[in-house]
Amino acid sequence: MAKELYELGEMPPLGEVPDKMHAWLIRPERFGPPLQAFQKEVVEVPEPADDEVLVYVMAAGINYNNVWAALGVPVDVIGARNKAYAKGELGEPEPFHIGGSDASGIVYKVGKDVTNVKVGDEVVMHCGRWDRNDPWVKNGGDPMYSSTYRIWAYEANWGSFAQFAKVQGQQCMPKPKHMTWEEAAAYTLVGATAWRMLHGWGVNSVKEGDVVLIWGGAGGLGSMAIQIAKEAGAIPVAVVSGEDKFDYCIKLGAKGCIDRRDFDHWGMLPHWKDTAGYATWLKGVRKFGSAIWDVLGEKRAPNIVFEHPGETTIPTSIFVCDTGGMVVVCAGTTGYNATVDLRYLWMRQKRLQGSHFANDVQANEMNDLALRGRLDPCLSQAFSYDEIPHVHQLMYENKHPHGNMAVLVGATEFGLGASAEPPAALPQPKLPEGDVHTTPHPYPMSEPLPGIAATEEITIYDDGTLVDALMHRGVIGCAPDDTVARVAEIMIDEDIHAVVVMDGGQAVGVVSQTDMVLARQGRTREQAQAMPARDIMTPGCVTCEAGTLLSEAVSMMTGRRMHRLVVTENDQPVGVISMTDVVRKLILE
Ligand code: NAP
Repeated sequence: MAKELYELGEMPPLGEVPDKMHAWLIRPERFGPPLQAFQKEVVEVPEPADDEVLVYVMAAGINYNNVWAALGVPVDVIGARNKAYAKGELGEPEPFHIGGSDASGIVYKVGKDVTNVKVGDEVVMHCGRWDRNDPWVKNGGDPMYSSTYRIWAYEANWGSFAQFAKVQGQQCMPKPKHMTWEEAAAYTLVGATAWRMLHGWGVNSVKEGDVVLIWGGAGGLGSMAIQIAKEAGAIPVAVVSGEDKFDYCIKLGAKGCIDRRDFDHWGMLPHWKDTAGYATWLKGVRKFGSAIWDVLGEKRAPNIVFEHPGETTIPTSIFVCDTGGMVVVCAGTTGYNATVDLRYLWMRQKRLQGSHFANDVQANEMNDLALRGRLDPCLSQAFSYDEIPHVHQLMYENKHPHGNMAVLVGATEFGLGASAEPPAALPQPKLPEGDVHTTPHPYPMSEPLPGIAATEEITIYDDGTLVDALMHRGVIGCAPDDTVARVAEIMIDEDIHAVVVMDGGQAVGVVSQTDMVLARQGRTREQAQAMPARDIMTPGCVTCEAGTLLSEAVSMMTGRRMHRLVVTENDQPVGVISMTDVVRKLILE
């Protein structure tokens, strides 16, 4: 007869599941920094469904997701699940969250439909869950495209920061016998994600001889990508910040590395009309491209660019990617609004491919590498069970080491669990001494995104102010044939930043200060002065009606990176609203 509760590290007899277990819980009433949000509690052990398994957790992997779960933003994962459950949708009723989306452990109980594992099996778990009865899945569709797809222990409950974890049978994969519990808990989430990115995209999947450019080569995803690409016979080139990480990436299999700190062309693309800015950017990105050639020893472009930094690197990734190649992206660590010079995308027929985690087949293909001793888990540091909030706090404060971290749960000491020699010799590289993370993660790897179907009413916060209340009446305009010299005089005399181009009573464009400055690029002053306004204006003047909500006008401006709009009444231009007017109201009044 099993005890009601076992102490941590006191392993219940195989297959005997107690009623209760120790776990680190997050509850909504203490959402906040991890040290506040995570607390030790004793809870009932969940009952596995027919397709589920209870695993006695030996060690758990650490991912940034549970920092966000602790904060309760941008998604209250508990509230979202409870709400869905109440509506009879795919949700869960518990008023708490147990995180931990990576784990190693021993199967203790299996649902009646589970066939791939049995009690006593040593397993690692991938974090992809879905409803096996979803028609899409039943008909053989990739479960990653199913609306029932959830990331275990973030979008679903019962993760590995507890004595028992509840997972679907298909999430369990054999544990590599040569790895310790903590090593085995560290690699699955990042490994499977990198596998799908490199192997999941048809004609663009990695092939022997391909050049693969890998951002963040010493990071969680990057360290896996180097090894997976190398194993496929490809040539990985890693990008890192700092030469001290070169050796690490080269030992993992990179042909060579590039220090991103040697370049300064990062961020959104300059405007395509900004020929000087664009030329400077081109110089920077070409220098980066030739650094790839230097590593390769030949002038070849990457067939695949392995992307996750996002906003700051996407323009570079798309530029350097080979004709017909693929930039594959699974995150936007530095921001989501990536700019794309479409000419390169269409003329050179490149593919910008989104990718998210992995399905069970891909996770197992990745795990096969680990089983064969061909994938180093890149465990950078292991912690004790009691340190679960602390290690999340380190991540929250961006003071954690690179690579993959793990914590012990059922394992009583570090270094236990390996029962065989590694089938292959790997160099087991170490990160530089004292290495810490320096780049924050902005948002979770997974969040519910709105689709076409209305799920919930969207609240728009607006105080009802109309453009009419803030606009300046009267349009200072010019004719399309007025010279740039004339337009400049109007601007200076009237102390305004843009002149509306009027043709037959209609506003047909705007000449902004930016247009004026760009007109001078590649021309003498006299040539620029003589140009007609129509040739330098931004055509198709963006207008709003005086009765428009101020918030809508602001969105029009921010969305187009503009600072003013022409205001119309009955389609006739009657004034201008500028960001200066908005700042005056929002900040000073
Ligand atoms: P990580 O271990 O923190 O590594 C990310 C690396 O990116 C950093 O080590 C850094 O390396 C590099 N980096 C940071 N800022 C950069 C910048 N401005 N330009 C170029 N490189 C930069 O994180 P990870 O585990 O690899 O995960 C990376 C991202 O993928 C995260 O946002 C994570 O949430 C997401 N993710 C998504 C999925 C999915 O399924 N969608 C799965 C796993 C992870 P250097 O400083 O050395 O250059």
